[in-house]
Amino acid sequence: MEMIKYKGIPAAPGYGMGKSFFWHDEKVDIPQYEVSDVDGEVRRLARAIAVAIEQLDEIVRSTKQETSEEQAEIFEAQKMFLSDQALVKLAKGNIKGKKWNAEFAWHEATEFYARQIESLPDETLSERAKDVRDIGMRVVRNLLGKAPKKGFNFTDPVVLLADDLTPSQTVSFDKSKILGFCTAEGGATSHAAILAKALGIPAVVGLGKEIKKIPDGTLTLVDGFQGFVVVNPDGETAEQFKSKMGTHIKEVDEAIKKAAEPAKTKDGSIIEVSANVGSVDEAAEIHRYGADGIGLLRTEFIFLNRKKFLDEEAQYLAYKKIFENANHLPVVFRTLDVGGDKEVAFYDFGFERNPFLGYRAIRIFLDHPDDFKMILRALLRAGYQHDLRIMFPMVATLDELLQAKEILQEVEQALVKQNVPYAERYQLGIMVEIPSVPLMADAFAEHVDFFSVGTNDLTQYTFAAERGNKRLAYLSDPCHPAILKQIKMVADAAKGKNIWVGVCGEMAGDLQAIPVLIGLGVGELSMSPQLIPLAKQEIRNWKMKDAEELAKDALIQTSAADVRMLVEKRRSAITP
Ligand code: PEP
Ligand code: MG
Repeated sequence: MEMIKYKGIPAAPGYGMGKSFFWHDEKVDIPQYEVSDVDGEVRRLARAIAVAIEQLDEIVRSTKQETSEEQAEIFEAQKMFLSDQALVKLAKGNIKGKKWNAEFAWHEATEFYARQIESLPDETLSERAKDVRDIGMRVVRNLLGKAPKKGFNFTDPVVLLADDLTPSQTVSFDKSKILGFCTAEGGATSHAAILAKALGIPAVVGLGKEIKKIPDGTLTLVDGFQGFVVVNPDGETAEQFKSKMGTHIKEVDEAIKKAAEPAKTKDGSIIEVSANVGSVDEAAEIHRYGADGIGLLRTEFIFLNRKKFLDEEAQYLAYKKIFENANHLPVVFRTLDVGGDKEVAFYDFGFERNPFLGYRAIRIFLDHPDDFKMILRALLRAGYQHDLRIMFPMVATLDELLQAKEILQEVEQALVKQNVPYAERYQLGIMVEIPSVPLMADAFAEHVDFFSVGTNDLTQYTFAAERGNKRLAYLSDPCHPAILKQIKMVADAAKGKNIWVGVCGEMAGDLQAIPVLIGLGVGELSMSPQLIPLAKQEIRNWKMKDAEELAKDALIQTSAADVRMLVEKRRSAITP
């Protein structure tokens, strides 16, 4: 067999090399027959669901231990489907009305549900349909007395190829035996990709059906940074790859050793490198990676999967715990950013043709000031004697910011009046994720203490290309000069008012983007904690003077690919 290179979508960083193994999903035949004891059959289904909930509890526990709380949320959400009364009612109705056996009745109900979700005009929901099918099969297996799906027992580590992987499948493998995940289908934001990232296993997805033809045992190289896979490499390619892997491992070791030191450029500028955090536990983990603070605390985690809006006291306790876990480092709390792809049960979003352009984040709270006040009170109280920074998401106009600030002032006045201790000297900032903000950056700069650029959303709104839509991946690179120009506008406005600018979208942890961002005047980068050591190391390789020169030249490129090429050229010129 000749050497073949497959191009896919990078889903989890890292390099992997080893023998391939194509993992076929085990087929489970669903029996169909008529039952006479319908009540007995309903009880059988209820027991199988209860067992599935116990199994998921165990997976949640081990996922929390091996990866993090955020990843465990995927299985918490699956558990929610099992307690969804509409779904269970539908399955029971199939048993009682049609006299179907529990396996068939349940399978038909979950399929109906999954197809309904898939028919909605929102690509990001396809992951949820996959989750429904995943729990659907779990219950069927329980009914049939088949052991829960276990990952294949490999004696030697393999590069695992598959059509696609459900979250349950991804965590079921012994991770010490997996050198890389490569799937024919799937997108970079799929749950399996998120889990692979958290497990620290390189992954490339969306490689196409052709990978099915790769015979098991073929030497395979996985590049989770660039998103490609090479099978049956010739000697020279394999050697080059090996040496790249070796250098990478050394770089990572070196970076981890120096993680706690500041990220100082060769000519002495210090860049703050902070962590993006999505749970109370994760806040405690940031120190391992040398984070200088929390640059984005996504408060969504305490609200998702809840039927009612969380009261002030419960929020206060969670926020306080985050400060404690962060060892009193600065924390940027972003007020609740729901809507778009993140739905919650306590708000009715109605039908939206374009949820990403719909009722989201700050837009909801200007409409629900009492809930907003609860969030702000909890934050101000928790921030007492801490370095509190409050950030509003999805601000589009100055008017919105001023309205939100007015509500914040009312909350402060009430706290003073009630003699409640609170953070009197907090900072206030906004996410820059809608192009109207860079365009009006000077006006906004008058009213905030900092800007944090959310490049994930800024990119989708600049190119009018929904994030996570696989077919539009070519419109998702934030290194495009159209985005860089907006960051420059924000950085210039901030400089004029002596306030700071950070970036907290995925771009902040992209090693190629980092020198450009600091050269544009970005002083803080916030990213997944695991990325911090290498990001700091990247900053240490540069002189600010060279980064500024690079940024100036990047701004006059005409594509993201050209910008990345330019960075690579300059990088090789500066590295000894
Ligand atoms: C962003 O939009 O870049 C961002 C950081 O926010 P989120 O990914 O949570 O929308
Ligand atoms: Mg955003």
